[in-house]
Amino acid sequence: MIARALDEIRRRIARAEARAGRAPGGTRLLAVTKTVPADRVRAAAAAGQRLFGENYLQEARAKLADLQDLRPETTWHFIGRLQRNKARAAVELFDCIESLDGLKLARTLDRLAGEAGRRLAVLVQVDLAGEPTKGGVAADELPTFLEAVFRLPNLSVEGLMCLPPWREDPEEVRPYFRRLRRLRDEAVRAGAPPGFRELSMGMSHDFEVAVEEGATLVRVGTALFGPRPKRPEA
Ligand SMILES: *Cc1c(COP(=O)(O)O)cnc(C)c1O
Repeated sequence: MIARALDEIRRRIARAEARAGRAPGGTRLLAVTKTVPADRVRAAAAAGQRLFGENYLQEARAKLADLQDLRPETTWHFIGRLQRNKARAAVELFDCIESLDGLKLARTLDRLAGEAGRRLAVLVQVDLAGEPTKGGVAADELPTFLEAVFRLPNLSVEGLMCLPPWREDPEEVRPYFRRLRRLRDEAVRAGAPPGFRELSMGMSHDFEVAVEEGATLVRVGTALFGPRPKRPEA
């Protein structure tokens, strides 16, 4: 089941790369496993999936405890909203924080990564539509923000992430994806460090458009694992 779904998504990614004239394999698939039980994550890993994303720290902590044996061969990204008082747990559990959205949080993560003796990968979440329920650094503040976080010694700032508004027609999301790519390209031209290249954009409903616009990471949940139960706190 999950192997078939993974295969299908990978094929759709490859076709979107080809349509856009991109080199094959430039887009990584991040399997979003919020609300998905550990045994189904295990099945996805058995089918070759290596990169996973979670939104909630408590849920991730319990699940990762069940999946300890898989930890060395899998990579985990935190993609939810991160409060500073939970930053320590996030640094302990995750390889990369995709939802960095403030300078105080950046300084806290930098300090905690330093204490843990590691360099923590982060992406900067950009707010492209001014939606109050979603986090992110405003696009016009991004250059100043990046300049500050590039200087933090224990953070490896690897690119940008966005969570654009949901639209029935994925074509209507294309301008947001394009905007994120331009923001990344501008930052690169302005002298971002060499590792700064990722564009985490696109979900189940619109990932093909995101791939056409240059996504290097697509975050796919329901298209792999089926619909999620509703969560009161989400
Ligand atoms: C849940 C979630 C996804 C995956 O959404 P689907 O529509 O299920 O693919 C991607 N990114 C973030 C930040 C999410 O919270």
